[in-house]
Amino acid sequence: MSFKDLGLSTELLATIKLQGYTKPSPIQAQAIPEIFKGRDILGGAQTGTGKTAAFALPIIQNLSKNKPQKHRKPRALILTPTRELAAQVNESMCSYGRKTRLYTTEVYGGVNINPQIKRFRNGVDIVVATPGRLLDHLQRKTVDLTQIEFLVLDEADRMLDMGFINDIRKIVSTLPKKRQNLMFSATYSQSIKKLADTLLNNPVQIEVAKRNMATEMVTQYVHPVERGRKRELLSSLIRDEKWEQVLVFTRTKNGANRLTKQLMKDGIQAAAIHGNKSQSARTQALLRFKNGKVRTLVATDVAARGLDINLLPHVVNFDLPNAPEDYVHRIGRTGRAGQNGVALSLVCSEEQDLLVKIQRLLNKKITVKKIDGFQAEPATTKTKVNKRPKRYSASPKKQNRKKASSSSRSGGSVFSLAGQNKTRRVSGNA
Ligand code: AMP
Repeated sequence: MSFKDLGLSTELLATIKLQGYTKPSPIQAQAIPEIFKGRDILGGAQTGTGKTAAFALPIIQNLSKNKPQKHRKPRALILTPTRELAAQVNESMCSYGRKTRLYTTEVYGGVNINPQIKRFRNGVDIVVATPGRLLDHLQRKTVDLTQIEFLVLDEADRMLDMGFINDIRKIVSTLPKKRQNLMFSATYSQSIKKLADTLLNNPVQIEVAKRNMATEMVTQYVHPVERGRKRELLSSLIRDEKWEQVLVFTRTKNGANRLTKQLMKDGIQAAAIHGNKSQSARTQALLRFKNGKVRTLVATDVAARGLDINLLPHVVNFDLPNAPEDYVHRIGRTGRAGQNGVALSLVCSEEQDLLVKIQRLLNKKITVKKIDGFQAEPATTKTKVNKRPKRYSASPKKQNRKKASSSSRSGGSVFSLAGQNKTRRVSGNA
């Protein structure tokens, strides 16, 4: 099947060629013809499957058929869970629609609302928005959604996880009843099914990968390690294996900040991205990561959802997520659109239960790869394992002094890993 077979216009075919896409991805091959037929879609598509183009291309083609009105009102609404995803989808909309005369805009919180109001006033055809800010516009009456023809819920599962259900319902109540609905979700739950039942009209169900399954293109490993030595292991992997680009997940915002600082001290350029950062700081960090100025982006689950970084080769779970579904989303950041990727999890003994849950969801065991000198303490030395993080966190200043003197001895800008490994290995064997 080629893009031509999908019924796309010559303008869009030219754009697709410019994008460098040679053939439609499975979700595109299945969804595009159905969207052209006017059907509602329930798409079970994982991240990285090309689902954005699957809904963007037919929407753009349909909307560009009609001559633009003088006072344009939005005719397509795409709701996303995060600001980053909204910005990214809008960017895709802009590049897929570059040969048309449609206007598209992104709308999310954390930034000044006035430029958004101005853009609505000037007229837009496509709005990509997070629910909270869009509701704000509706309440201020700065946007009119009564002309909406297409509603897309992107990453609907995450929107529900983030508690957007009431906002979504309020937004939907302002839309015309006659419209086409497209809903995409990487994972399925009862609440997703319920939302689909109330929102979609006899939808075509499209499933491009098995539900709740991690993408096949991602090689996954577990590295057992003591909790207090995770950063040391991460730094050594980044350095020794000469990783150019790695996305690291931590469970908490503080954890992301702390790890970023520690990596910088280890001489590794890093930036953090999470909900406590201003939108401009998040955009900056992402940009620096995308154009190679920082090698390591440390993120929490919410902030990282929807990030699309071309050919991202490595994802590291510094902490395992509490919800096993988040593991699937995290590792979906790599292995995108047919590229191979590696996802590593640094797992300490306290996280064994989380690992069991993840493996149950994946329905497979993740290969355990022990790294010399970093093996987790055996279960019998549990007290030792528990003590270690306390010592590391109790006196950071002292620890830094130790690092500094060690680095001056080794002549490097980072503390001597080799020395520590040796000591570890000896005690590990004892
Ligand atoms: P998405 O799942 O929509 O976030 O897309 C993931 C990545 O796949 C993006 O970088 C797209 O540019 C890319 N992509 C989308 N469709 C195709 C295609 N047919 N061939 C190659 N890459 C694609």
